[in-house]
Amino acid sequence: MSIDFGNDIYEEPIVAKTFLTEDSSENSLRPHTLKEYIGQEKAKENLSIFIEAARRRTESLDHVLLHGPPGLGKTTLAGIIAQEMGVNIRITSGPAIEKPGDLAALLTNLNENDILFVDEIHRLNRAVEEILYPAMEDYAIDIIIGKGPSANSIRLDLPRFTLIGATTRAGSLSAPLRDRFGVTLRLELYTPRELARIVQRSAGILNAPIEEDGAMEIARRSRGTPRIANRMLRRVRDFAQVKADGVITKEVADAALLALEIDYLGLDPVDRRMLRAIIENYGGGPVGLDTLAATIGEESVTLEDVYEPYLMQLGFLTRTPRGRCVTRKAYEHLHMDYLGQEQLELS
Ligand code: ADP
Repeated sequence: MSIDFGNDIYEEPIVAKTFLTEDSSENSLRPHTLKEYIGQEKAKENLSIFIEAARRRTESLDHVLLHGPPGLGKTTLAGIIAQEMGVNIRITSGPAIEKPGDLAALLTNLNENDILFVDEIHRLNRAVEEILYPAMEDYAIDIIIGKGPSANSIRLDLPRFTLIGATTRAGSLSAPLRDRFGVTLRLELYTPRELARIVQRSAGILNAPIEEDGAMEIARRSRGTPRIANRMLRRVRDFAQVKADGVITKEVADAALLALEIDYLGLDPVDRRMLRAIIENYGGGPVGLDTLAATIGEESVTLEDVYEPYLMQLGFLTRTPRGRCVTRKAYEHLHMDYLGQEQLELS
């Protein structure tokens, strides 16, 4: 599907987990201080205590693990931690570190107290992960020089650094790695009110005139996720410029998002296909994730990381040991007849 709003043609779904070209202005929208970082009060409060304590002791911050669905602000928060600690940050990701040597090169280039941010840390390969253990614990790595019987292991000291790992799935992290993080922070989906503040702030940076109702309409439909809220804002702004007088009102936001097939709760065509498939093909569930993914032609990791958290937050989907089930609320939203277990047994 492609949607033409005049100057931009959108091919990608707004919910996409991957980085879209339209996200390239994301950096300009990133808050730089904890004060500017909206929401996540619990995580912010804990962090500010750890940061303050480390600052007073003039030590590096303990290793931090951030987890939560994509687009909630993990990378942003890592940048803020660096800023607040007054240190440099190196950004990389699990799949980008292919060999132990790649990690060794990154680590030996850090300065005292610097931060190494590893996104998707659950995707590190085993050999790399094993180098990370002594690095995190003893600030040292063992490098093997030579091959066969003449091989020699030398120990290399590292500066005291802070590792910040980000993951969408804390459950996939190996126990030894998880245990080496001193601080674990879970980011939660944002409330519409918090997202409305994020949208207002981003609109200010983008110079896009927006009314309060317009911001709330975008917020309510952005599935608890700032990245999606910012994407919606950009697309709604284009729509406002081409089809209206440039101001983002509630009506303009509503019309733009409807054209993008985002319904009033923020569900997109994949969400609806997923719920419909469970209802129509599996009697409302339970159905296994892989079977469901194959039925609708999506990847199971995408369904699990991107779609399910919001559907569960809405109370449309439940996870049971036997598989996924939809709830009465989902039937109502889709205007489908709900046949509860009792009725099914009677029929
Ligand atoms: P993640 O690393 O969790 O995938 P990012 O840190 O890349 O997410 O955040 C995505 C976008 O959302 C960023 O461009 C940032 O502007 C915005 N954002 C995230 N969290 C917040 C927040 N708490 N306040 C304001 N903007 C935020």
